[in-house]
Amino acid sequence: MITEISENFYRITLPMPFRLRHVHAYALVEDGQAALFDAGMLMPGAGQKLEADLAGIGLSVADISDIYLTHTHTDHCGLAGWIQEKSSARLHLSDEARQMYDHFQQGEDLIARARLFYARRGLPVRDVEAIVEEIEDLRGRIPRFDVATPLRDRETRRFGSRAFEVIFTPGHAAGHVCFFFRDEGLLLAGDHILPYIAPSLSPTIGDEVFQPLASYLESLAAVEKLPVSTVYPGHGNSFNGVHERIHEIRDHHALKKDMLLKRIGARPQTTFGICEETIRAVADDWEKFMALNETYVYLQQLKQEGVIREGMAGKTVVYSVV
Ligand SMILES: [Zn+2]
Repeated sequence: MITEISENFYRITLPMPFRLRHVHAYALVEDGQAALFDAGMLMPGAGQKLEADLAGIGLSVADISDIYLTHTHTDHCGLAGWIQEKSSARLHLSDEARQMYDHFQQGEDLIARARLFYARRGLPVRDVEAIVEEIEDLRGRIPRFDVATPLRDRETRRFGSRAFEVIFTPGHAAGHVCFFFRDEGLLLAGDHILPYIAPSLSPTIGDEVFQPLASYLESLAAVEKLPVSTVYPGHGNSFNGVHERIHEIRDHHALKKDMLLKRIGARPQTTFGICEETIRAVADDWEKFMALNETYVYLQQLKQEGVIREGMAGKTVVYSVV
């Protein structure tokens, strides 16, 4: 489905095989060319869907001259390589998002690091292998693409007569950016702010310095200062009232972090031990993976705040209250 959201500005809804079932891309059109913001998921039928939707406004994939990525999760960059084959589109993303992409291309090294990382969280071997399978699956969905230019925080980019600002919003993913069209108060939010769910937070394996929750909250504060009238997210409907939504998401994290802290006692526990009940309650491997990641992110934050301490018990990392 293609919907005009502003003059010569369109939302294209593309399929996704799991979870939210759809992901949006946005196309800005001028003089027979299009800039595409995010590039859907690589899966059967997605490219054809993009082609058909563009045909509805008299364009084809070959007319895409630029691709801007909010981040390099598979559902936002999946078709970028396929589009570049057809159109030689220039691709723009932040250096940090590029690094995450490169990291995913590292194959065996990434898998070895992921195995070690999740084993240290105290997960049974079978669950570690289920996670490794999820990561392998994600890797298979990341295309090869060529990057034309790195995006810089707060820079203004132009496409035809339109100007938009690049706003760095790391948190949901390292290197995440939003695109802000100040004249219209329109924010292409990627997965930074979603209407119905709080965007997931995950560690970047191999980058223990990156603090997803602290970065995410800072990024919310950065968006809060912008005169945004309408948010166009990567998933779900557009919405007004960005401030209310930011408050809700902040409260959500504060509450979940508090609930987690209550489960940590004087007896050292592994990350898995702390969230085992939650993990056992969900059937889906992906949901388990997300629950574990989120627990790890809250633990990192609580450790940073000095309310819990981290130690080692054999080969696993354990936590206890200070
Ligand atoms: Zn994402």
